[in-house]
Amino acid sequence: MIEPGATIGIVGGGQLGRMLAIAAAQLGYRCHVFDPHEAPCAAEVAAKHTRAAFDDQAALKAFAADCAVVTYEFENLPSAPLGVIDAAIRPSRRSLEVSQDRAEEKAFLESAGARVAPWRTVDSAADARAAFEALGGPVLLKTRRMGYDGKGQAWLSAADEAETAHEAIGRQPAVAEAKVAFDAEFSVIVGRGPDGATAAFPVPRNEHRDGILRHSIVPAGPLVAPHEAEAVRLATGIAAALDHVGVITIEFFACADGPLVNEFAPRVHNSGHWTIEGAETSQFEQHVRAICGLPLGPTGLTGARVVMDNLIGRDVEAWPALIAEPGAHLHLYGKGEARDGRKMGHVTRVSRRA
Ligand code: AMP
Repeated sequence: MIEPGATIGIVGGGQLGRMLAIAAAQLGYRCHVFDPHEAPCAAEVAAKHTRAAFDDQAALKAFAADCAVVTYEFENLPSAPLGVIDAAIRPSRRSLEVSQDRAEEKAFLESAGARVAPWRTVDSAADARAAFEALGGPVLLKTRRMGYDGKGQAWLSAADEAETAHEAIGRQPAVAEAKVAFDAEFSVIVGRGPDGATAAFPVPRNEHRDGILRHSIVPAGPLVAPHEAEAVRLATGIAAALDHVGVITIEFFACADGPLVNEFAPRVHNSGHWTIEGAETSQFEQHVRAICGLPLGPTGLTGARVVMDNLIGRDVEAWPALIAEPGAHLHLYGKGEARDGRKMGHVTRVSRRA
């Protein structure tokens, strides 16, 4: 067990790291952020910041020597250099590696008993055309690596579009996925401790626009409810198959014939921000508890209905009205410029009545 007072290392200094550091501080831990940027928003609320490239092994070693445990807040990290601090990392590099390559991720998910959209690997425009024909189009091309918030993706709605779509994703190694006819999107957020204990949060329904999460709503409602028990069972199995320690988030499509996994993130997730006020334990505290070997906290709802709205880009300009609204819990990430598509903050409302 890693006791309060110890230092937790966080690789990555974005808003997830920031909210992890705040939760860790509440339990008496100190945080040390590792991030190449000058003033990452997590470093503003942490005790220390190492500014170095993610593949700087000397800096990683010195960083790990200062920390009782090291975690990561995003998965697009080069994994091999982290090998020098393997013993300190929770969740392990396996969770990281499987999640950062969409082809490996899908093969793993299938082996863990989950259903995913029919897919093919794509290394050329000819492969994209063949995938379109084999999967009976339309298909979505997604780069195998480094994609997030709908980036590195292109739809292919006719075989003739193979060349353009492949060009649009920068001719990178990719997967092609059949278009899923879903009724809703939802996610299962599970904490898992080093002893294998697990606790799932109530399931949010997630609404996206332009590939970016806009709203999470709990309870998820009638389109998702029939899938929840099965999805939680699958998510718990996926966490166990990875021997994952920490929080893991599995994103699902609710389909007529059952839940289909879209992807997973080996970490706390935007669709779990509502847990800060809406659950008995926040996803951030749960992650700290799990990686430190503390007992997992209870995950029940604190109200009848919880809604989280993301503040993307200039949405953040609404902050004066939001701060004045009773019951609106405003979170601003302290980022400078409100660029289009940039996650600047979020607001959560917990209602007593459904
Ligand atoms: P992703 O980056 O994989 O999470 O995709 C971003 C969003 O695109 C998802 O949340 C869905 O709304 C949509 N999407 C992704 N894959 C598919 C698919 N195979 N069929 C239909 N919509 C998809």
